[in-house]
Amino acid sequence: RHLKKYFPIKTGLFNRVVGHVKAVDDITLGIYEGETFGLVGESGCGKSTLGRVVLHLQRATSGEVFFDGKNVQAMNSQQLRRLRQDMQIIFQDPFGSLNPRFQVRDIIGEPLRVHQRASANDIDKKVVELMELVGLDASRRNRYPHEFSGGQRQRIGIARAIALNPRFIVADEAVSALDVSVQSQVLNLLMKLQKELGLTFLFIAHGLNVVRHISDRVGVMYLGKLVEVARTEELFANPLHPYTAALLSAIPRPTPHRKKERIVLQGDVPSPANPPSGCRFHPRCSFAQEQCRKVAPELQIVSSDRQVACHFPLEYSEMKVLIH
Ligand code: SF4
Ligand code: MG
Repeated sequence: RHLKKYFPIKTGLFNRVVGHVKAVDDITLGIYEGETFGLVGESGCGKSTLGRVVLHLQRATSGEVFFDGKNVQAMNSQQLRRLRQDMQIIFQDPFGSLNPRFQVRDIIGEPLRVHQRASANDIDKKVVELMELVGLDASRRNRYPHEFSGGQRQRIGIARAIALNPRFIVADEAVSALDVSVQSQVLNLLMKLQKELGLTFLFIAHGLNVVRHISDRVGVMYLGKLVEVARTEELFANPLHPYTAALLSAIPRPTPHRKKERIVLQGDVPSPANPPSGCRFHPRCSFAQEQCRKVAPELQIVSSDRQVACHFPLEYSEMKVLIH
């Protein structure tokens, strides 16, 4: 609720603070148990920071995070230890996030050793079980990360993330570094694990095409703000925010005769240290009007499960989009 994460910009000898990068700027968001919430936006829009703040890996500048109705910031050390097990993260880079000098058995078994102080024998049994669960050959558990392919390394990262039976996982660009064919295998694995283990995912990606397959709902971020939230089918069928529409029109369409006008994003992403006045998207928006330059639109509920932050949201019909 009302999450903010500001990073100070310091200069000179005395580290004078001259401003702030508003990586996450007042975001309120609910994620339902058992769902996959896809979070998309161009790089630098603050989605990874939001993921880390939600996991309490970084402290929010202000605002609150609730897990199971409990305020995370108010938890004592014992509750936080429990929370560490309930919430896990899968990183983008399966190369950088696995220690190259550790055998895979030690990488996957590490959380069990640290959090549960399990015996070597129990850890080994659990590692075999986890490797089988994620589709890896458990007889290779004393090999090193470099002996595995990119997709297999991502499976190692996933096995480690589920070792402690978490309930909530943030997957931060978990498939972005993989080839498209390997991507879908890993996405399928994540969906299978979700069903079998009752997991809830916050699935972060920069492209909408990746989240489409896996997400129940999607949130679109722009410069630290959430600009649209919708059920996945609705978002793809009828984007309400011009930025969502622009992201969608960047996806190649399989049916060329149903051509929608391509909305081209003008200019580059502005700096989050010095965001544009009013609606942050206005310098790049083809529908911007005077009001947009002055007044920041609030995220508003437009129907059940549907929120948009825009003074002039696109209408629910393809025709209207073209008339605008
Ligand atoms: Fe475009 Fe205005 Fe909507 Fe911002 S508020 S997205 S500038 S129409
Ligand atoms: Mg990121």
